Amino acid sequence: MANIAFIGLGNMGGPMAANLVKAGHKVNVFDLSEQALSTAKENGATVAASANESVVGAEYVISMLPAGKHVAGLYLGEKSLGNDSVGHNGLIDAINPNSLVIDCSTIDHQTAQQVGNALAEKGIGFIDAPVSGGVGGAVAGTLSFMVGGSANHFERASSVLENMGKNIFHAGDLGAGQIAKVCNNMLLSVLMVGTSEALQLGISNGLDPKVLSEIMSKSSGSNWTLDVYNPCPNVMENVPSSNGYQGGFMVDLMAKDLGLAMETALLSQSSTPMGALARSLYAMHAAGGHGSRDFSSIFSLFDKQQ
Ligand code: NAD
Repeated sequence: MANIAFIGLGNMGGPMAANLVKAGHKVNVFDLSEQALSTAKENGATVAASANESVVGAEYVISMLPAGKHVAGLYLGEKSLGNDSVGHNGLIDAINPNSLVIDCSTIDHQTAQQVGNALAEKGIGFIDAPVSGGVGGAVAGTLSFMVGGSANHFERASSVLENMGKNIFHAGDLGAGQIAKVCNNMLLSVLMVGTSEALQLGISNGLDPKVLSEIMSKSSGSNWTLDVYNPCPNVMENVPSSNGYQGGFMVDLMAKDLGLAMETALLSQSSTPMGALARSLYAMHAAGGHGSRDFSSIFSLFDKQQ
């Protein structure tokens, strides 16, 4: 069993760290939130007084933070802001040279590459390993990991990732995990918007959404957002749409991921018209006060009654 430092114990990181404890690893955690730390302690983790303290003796360092600036700040400190003279240098000076850093946060692929390359200069391994599966997948230990990095590091990380997820993919070199993640979520958003407008078109023309869903599910319109995560209330049980759009994957997080997808498209001069439209629709939906609802609530944007 391994010695693991885990930093960032929010909605995702908290249950992921708990699953590592359950699998028998020694997990030393740190978060800025006292509440998150006390929950992790109740789940059997050891609590460190600082991020630096958490990585002492760690073979693996896992982070699950909100965005690129948090990840760059954690590992590279003030250097990541182009300022070498002020403040701390980040974990880069505290992590053991032979350790492997696994960043599971969803961030831009350039920051992942910047951090990975800087750590490599110190002999520290790094992979980007963003996840799909949401809070439910984090709790159940059924996440999908999309990994960018060397084959060696992928092999080495797999034994740990297996304790938190069901599907572990090697997407390619450093940064490739982040690119796979934004491609997937951009497609997911487009499917969700398309499914929502098709269902609303049927409803506006007198169709029962349950009947229409069954027809399209068995026809060429079949897709995950229709078949497994239907956005129309009361078509399916145990999905956010039948629970006031609570739980699931927040609109704000989808809007964030679509922003990353658009940055990635801009940098590679890729044409993503459907993704761009989905980004605008999710931004509009978030601005309308729906940021903390599940992303399937975009369905209401096409409701003629509203
Ligand atoms: P969250 O806001 O619930 O948790 C983030 C945690 O990081 C917080 O507990 C915060 O205190 C901590 N933190 C921030 N800066 C820190 C620092 N410098 N040192 C230590 N701790 C620090 O976020 P989340 O929902 O757990 O998401 C984490 C990442 O996972 C994000 O990149 C998100 O895009 C991605 N993600 C989230 C979901 C989801 O459904 N929530 C699904 C897939 C991917």
